[in-house]
Amino acid sequence: MEIRRFFVQPSDINGDLIALSGDEFLHMTRVLRYKVGYKAVILANDGKERLCTVSRIGDGQAELVVDSVREVDKKSVNLTLYAGLLKNNKLDFVIQKAVELGVDKVVPFVSANCAESKFSSERGARIALEAAKQCGSAYLSEVGDLSTFDSIAEEFCNYDSVLFAYECERKTSLAEAAKGKNVAIVVGPEGGFTREEAEKAGANGATLVTLGRRILRAETAAIVASALVLDSLGELRYE
Ligand code: SAM
Repeated sequence: MEIRRFFVQPSDINGDLIALSGDEFLHMTRVLRYKVGYKAVILANDGKERLCTVSRIGDGQAELVVDSVREVDKKSVNLTLYAGLLKNNKLDFVIQKAVELGVDKVVPFVSANCAESKFSSERGARIALEAAKQCGSAYLSEVGDLSTFDSIAEEFCNYDSVLFAYECERKTSLAEAAKGKNVAIVVGPEGGFTREEAEKAGANGATLVTLGRRILRAETAAIVASALVLDSLGELRYE
């Protein structure tokens, strides 16, 4: 039987005992038909895999005993992707690829040229959870609530570097601007950024960067920028 992966909160771990509840419990018992004695890999967003045995199922939760723990992934960089809201649920694709790459947080935002205004962070979180399980990540990327351009611009001061992918930028490349351990990337919606938004981003400490002479689709830009930054900061290595 395939040993399946489940995510818990660090607070669900008490020594060698782990409590699994909520949607992950329902998935374990109703969909995967887990029974006492079955094996599972439990992840708590800390880079560790805990091989466990189900010891009890009941009262809306499963109790597991930890058999062994191994550290599988040590992150040295934290990357946040601020992504302009896209039409036709294309942000789902961006979230899925960002998780596969190891982006830590995806924050959707509405800006002047957005043609969309609705976003479900619950749906986004479900996509992130499934992507994390599929790619074997030992971390669970966060999907933020829908924000505004002004509110995300206020957050730029929290990062070592903020890379603002601006279609009118001609000089600075992503790689030369990516610095530090806590980095953010900002990518616009299909309609792009206004000059005022680019100026405001610069005034708030972001570095305007180009992704080359071709205009990439927003979803392409988000994925390419994430991969370039993670690679330039040494995260796309197999250690
Ligand atoms: N409407 C814009 C235009 O026609 O110039 C294109 C916007 S593009 C589809 C969506 C977003 O992807 C942009 O706001 C930017 O963040 C990013 N992007 C796409 N191509 C880029 C490039 N060559 N350099 C920098 N950013 C780019």
